[in-house]
Amino acid sequence: MNIPSDAAARRAVPPVICYPVETLPRPDMALLDAARASLTKTGETLIPPRDARTFSVPAGHFFRINSVEGPQVGDLNLWNARDLTERFYSGKTRALHGTHITRGDRMWSSFPGMRPLATITHDSLAWYGIDGFGGSVHDVIGTRCDPYTHNLLAGGQYHHCCHSNLSRAMGDYLGVPPRDAESHVHDVLNVFMCTGFTRDTGEYFMKASPVRPGDMLEFFAEVDLLGALSACPGGDCSAEHSSDAAPCYPLLVETFAPAPGALGNWKPPQPSGYDRTHGR
Ligand SMILES: [Zn+2]
Repeated sequence: MNIPSDAAARRAVPPVICYPVETLPRPDMALLDAARASLTKTGETLIPPRDARTFSVPAGHFFRINSVEGPQVGDLNLWNARDLTERFYSGKTRALHGTHITRGDRMWSSFPGMRPLATITHDSLAWYGIDGFGGSVHDVIGTRCDPYTHNLLAGGQYHHCCHSNLSRAMGDYLGVPPRDAESHVHDVLNVFMCTGFTRDTGEYFMKASPVRPGDMLEFFAEVDLLGALSACPGGDCSAEHSSDAAPCYPLLVETFAPAPGALGNWKPPQPSGYDRTHGR
C-alpha cells in the first residue's frame, strides 16, 4: 500500500454537509400541532407478526404506528395513492435528513415528484437520540429484509421477510399474485428499528429496539397515501431476522381526521418545479 506523504493533511480536511437544508421548505409544525390536538379516530389496521397489511390515509389526515404487546420493528412503504409510481424515496430522505428521522422530518417521494409524502408529527422515542454506539431509531439506511439476500447468504427459502410480507399485502390490494406486486415494494422507513454504522469498520448494525408498548410514531399525510407496513420477522431486531426465531408482536396502525378548518388554508405540496428537459 502506497501511503502519500500528505495523507494526514488529506484526512484532516473538515467535512461539509452535502445538502445544507436551510432552504428546504419547512413544515408548519405549529399548524400541525394545533391540528393534531383536534383529532378524531377514523380507523385502524392490526398488522399481524411476520406479515403486512395496507392502509389508506387521505391528504390532510394523520396516521400512527403503535407498539402493542411487545417490542417490534416495522418496515413502512408509502405511495401516492393516485399514482403508485410516486413512492417513498429512502435514499433522498437520508441525504436530506440524515440516517434516522424524527419529528419535523419528512418522507420524500421519488423523481419527478420529489415532494413530501408525509411529515413526522410525533415520535415518542425522540428521547433516545444517538447512543454510545452511534445507534439511533427510525432509520432510512436499511432496505428491508428480503428472501434474495437471505438466499445469497444462508441459502433456503424463507417467505416471511418484510419484502415478501409487503409483496403479499400489495398483491392483495391490487388483486394480483405477490410476484406481480413486488416491483411496487421499495426501500423502507425502519420504524422503531435501532441501527447505525460501526465506527471502526463502517458496517451496518442493529441492536434491540428501545420501543415498548405504548410508543408510537405519528405522521401527517401530505398527499393521498397508500401505506403498507410489515411487522418484521426480526421482532425487536436484537439478534436475527429472516427466520421465525425471534419473538414477534403485532403493530397497530390508526388513522385520524383533524377537525374541519383545523388546517386553515393548508394545501398538499406540488410536485417538483424542475422542468424535466434535462438540457435538451
Ligand atoms: Zn424485516
